[in-house]
Amino acid sequence: MTSPREPVLVAGGGWAGLSAAATLAQQGVPVRLVEAARQLGGRARRVRLGDFAVDNGQHLLIGAYRETLALMQQVGVTLNDRFLRTPLHLESWQDRRRVLRLRAPRLPEPFHLLVALLHARGLSLRDRWRALRFGAFIQRRRGELADDCTVAELLHGHGQTAATVRMLWEPLCLATLNTPVAEASAQIFVRVLYEALFRFHGDSDLLFAHGDLGTLLPDPALDYIESRGGTVQLGKRVTALHVDDARLRGVELDGEPVPATRLILAVSPEQCLALCRPHAALATLAHDLAQLDYQPICTVYLQYSPDTRLPRPAIGIVGGLCQWLFDRRHAGEAGRMAAVISADGPHMDMDNAELIAAVREEIARVRPHWPAPRDARVIREKRATFACRAGIATLRPAAATPVAGLYLAGDYTDTGYPATLEGAVRSGRLAARQILETQQEEPT
Ligand SMILES: Cc1cc2nc3c(=O)[nH]c(=O)nc-3n(C[C@H](O)[C@H](O)[C@H](O)COP(=O)(O)OP(=O)(O)OC[C@H]3O[C@@H](n4cnc5c(N)ncnc54)[C@H](O)[C@@H]3O)c2cc1C
Repeated sequence: MTSPREPVLVAGGGWAGLSAAATLAQQGVPVRLVEAARQLGGRARRVRLGDFAVDNGQHLLIGAYRETLALMQQVGVTLNDRFLRTPLHLESWQDRRRVLRLRAPRLPEPFHLLVALLHARGLSLRDRWRALRFGAFIQRRRGELADDCTVAELLHGHGQTAATVRMLWEPLCLATLNTPVAEASAQIFVRVLYEALFRFHGDSDLLFAHGDLGTLLPDPALDYIESRGGTVQLGKRVTALHVDDARLRGVELDGEPVPATRLILAVSPEQCLALCRPHAALATLAHDLAQLDYQPICTVYLQYSPDTRLPRPAIGIVGGLCQWLFDRRHAGEAGRMAAVISADGPHMDMDNAELIAAVREEIARVRPHWPAPRDARVIREKRATFACRAGIATLRPAAATPVAGLYLAGDYTDTGYPATLEGAVRSGRLAARQILETQQEEPT
């Protein structure tokens, strides 16, 4: 039995751990969060590159990120001040030409999508008709498939044309699952499309943050947790779990034993694997986690003169290394562009100078009138997300584990979503709610 006043330990101060700790703190549960790094935010954080303060990678939120937006509001963020919110508008360029434009008008779902597809520029009538039929299938199935397969197989089975795959589905699949269509899980892709496009008006809106990632959640969540009596310690790592008789007895923090009967392990899947592997009760979990593999995301930041701007907050680029180019003006960084390269590819074999040269050339092809950038930096997140492969659902662990008192949170857990901020936040809330439920069941 646990004393309700014993703090719940949360290991990991990424968005999953912050979400878990803030949910517990809201309910008056004492919480102690330990984060191995010197800052909060995990894979969605502010970083310093000399005098260059940037996000570790461009992050885009959408209107369907219900739990993330609710959590931000809970910790005191005023959403209208924090985001530029625009209806769905996709625009892709190849060389000097705009090859695709898809704009959703402010109409009730699914008419916004119907009109967007019917009026899409750059797709032939046949392309649009087939895309519409595919959309109707997703809506009929409410985003759920009977069996998983790859996105490529699903698109082929639904007669999607090569042009639609190349200009629409492939970039969307890379942007949301960070996994190429030939490997990506059709189930998760269809669920994401359904959630974003077919459920509620405004779900498909694009949200561009004003300010860096630290201001969106990590900074206000820290204040929120501490103001409710919780503690947050940076530079402190869980180095071992003490498990006895399938029950959590304690942990080691940087090698020092500390008693703990309730722990939310909100670390990356590799760290979770390392901590769980020594324990027989967690053998199946460790076996599954060992099967996961990872995909990188590479962001090239280029600083142009402050008056340099894109026609939209973001445009797609077709036929090159980078898939999206974001104008960071809305984050208060006028003239700075973030070129995003999702998933693995030849760019991972290039050194930074080669990569910057290649990206500069690609941008110069779509924006030939721009001046040369004054500065450029590369951030490579080699294990940005788990590879969201077909069949992945069987490997993703639940929040509760076979060890009493040990719960998992993180974007890789069984949320049904790809590795996203929304998946991370949902997982943290879920783990916290399970602790709250057990607490209610226990006699005091
Ligand atoms: C470049 C990039 C771009 C992305 N773009 C988007 C996007 O546009 N939209 C979107 O929704 N998602 C995006 N994502 C995905 C999103 O950032 C992640 O899904 C999310 O941040 C994962 O959060 P998490 O809390 O599950 O894990 P993490 O962020 O990995 O958090 C785990 C934390 O645990 C800490 N830790 C590890 N081991 C220990 C230990 N032993 N003890 C204590 N602490 C420990 C780590 O330091 C880390 O802070 C992107 C990711 C990257 C890298």
